[in-house]
Amino acid sequence: MTKKKYLILGGGPSGLTLANKLLDKGEEDFLLIEKEDRAGGLCRTEYVGSNPVDIGGGHILDVRSERVCEYMFRFLPREKWNSFDRDSKIWFKDQFMGSPFESHIWQLPVEDQVRYIKSVAIAGCNLGTPKPEKFVDWIRWKLGDEIAENYMLPYNRKMFTSNLDSLGTYWLEKLPDVSFEDTLMSCLERRFYGKHPGHARFYYPDKEGYGDAFLAMQERLGDRYLGGVRVTSLDVENRIVNGEFTADNIIVTIPWTDIKEYKGLEDGYLDDMGRLKYSGIRVDYHLEKLPFETGAHWIYYPQESYAYHRILVLYNFSPKSTGYWTETNLERVDLLEGKADLSYKNTYAYPHNTLDKPRIMKDLLARMEKDGVIGLGRWGEWQHYNSDVVMEKAMDLAEKLA
Ligand SMILES: Cc1cc2nc3c(=O)[nH]c(=O)nc-3n(C[C@H](O)[C@H](O)[C@H](O)COP(=O)(O)OP(=O)(O)OC[C@H]3O[C@@H](n4cnc5c(N)ncnc54)[C@H](O)[C@@H]3O)c2cc1C
Repeated sequence: MTKKKYLILGGGPSGLTLANKLLDKGEEDFLLIEKEDRAGGLCRTEYVGSNPVDIGGGHILDVRSERVCEYMFRFLPREKWNSFDRDSKIWFKDQFMGSPFESHIWQLPVEDQVRYIKSVAIAGCNLGTPKPEKFVDWIRWKLGDEIAENYMLPYNRKMFTSNLDSLGTYWLEKLPDVSFEDTLMSCLERRFYGKHPGHARFYYPDKEGYGDAFLAMQERLGDRYLGGVRVTSLDVENRIVNGEFTADNIIVTIPWTDIKEYKGLEDGYLDDMGRLKYSGIRVDYHLEKLPFETGAHWIYYPQESYAYHRILVLYNFSPKSTGYWTETNLERVDLLEGKADLSYKNTYAYPHNTLDKPRIMKDLLARMEKDGVIGLGRWGEWQHYNSDVVMEKAMDLAEKLA
């Protein structure tokens, strides 16, 4: 049995940051176990020729956390990154409009603007009706029926799941909060009003992919990174993984649902884990340029007729690259046409914010901590965290542990 002080499960941004921060603190008695040889998780990069392809979909570094940016620049120096002001578009009614939708209605024909504004004006939030608990109802309550039916619901069905009914609303602070007044003003003045969505300003490497910084984090760990080992069992009470590895603390950044066998865990928690939902995406990279001109970094496609929900225009933020890639929910890949130059399937892409998830995760994390097993990151906490957020969380945990 290999015995360590800390065992980290998963070599994505959470696990890698925790491991590197432990090293910074002089803590060397740990092992990181990862199923892939190459680290990076959803942020990993593969290459087609000299073109980086982020296999987990579009990945950019938000500028907001200085602490995280400085940490990333240790592994891929600052001069190797370019910064951009976000340019994202929505393909709608045979034209490109800006995002978020509710701040760019002014780009639609006038008769559509009137219809959308009327619909926002009588949305529940503007009439003072109580906030609903379900995502599908909240979208109508917040943005009105027109935006809900023509953009938000179809787009979210394509991205997350065809069955949106189980999703709650507690996570919607991620969406930009644009008021009715902002929407109206933007139509009157024909310009953007309201709050910018996340990633308003971001970094992307000049030549490399986002994942190259994480590979450098893996390298620094040396043989404290053990790749090619899939975690299949966890004995919670005795803190034993795969019957082979044990530690004083186990930090879980892999999906709880990917661990096939648990020992020493009461049935109720196993039933709860069975209720955690997620969805996957496939990323398809095409070496050629798009058949139309655009300066956008990425484009959203709410229409059913397109299998994918988003195109990442790589050559608009990675200047030495030629191609683009699409993101398609695994439920919809059969609808894809044509052959890509590289395809990558991610079974775990989006943790679902179901109505019962906050209760399930609160109970599960509290139960695990009693035995020294800690959940961290997108899957360990089952949250829609971006990589900058999970890195901050890993840094905080390293402080606490060391
Ligand atoms: C389409 C898409 C776009 C995104 N865009 C951005 C963006 O632009 N900017 C941004 O900051 N964030 C973005 N994110 C979020 C980002 O991917 C996550 O925040 C980040 O990857 C979370 O890191 P993590 O280490 O918690 O999880 P992961 O990256 O998922 O890492 C988990 C690791 O665990 C390993 N693993 C899983 N199961 C096992 C097992 N049984 N045994 C051993 N190892 C296992 C996996 O191989 C993986 O390496 C995006 C996510 C998606 C899906």
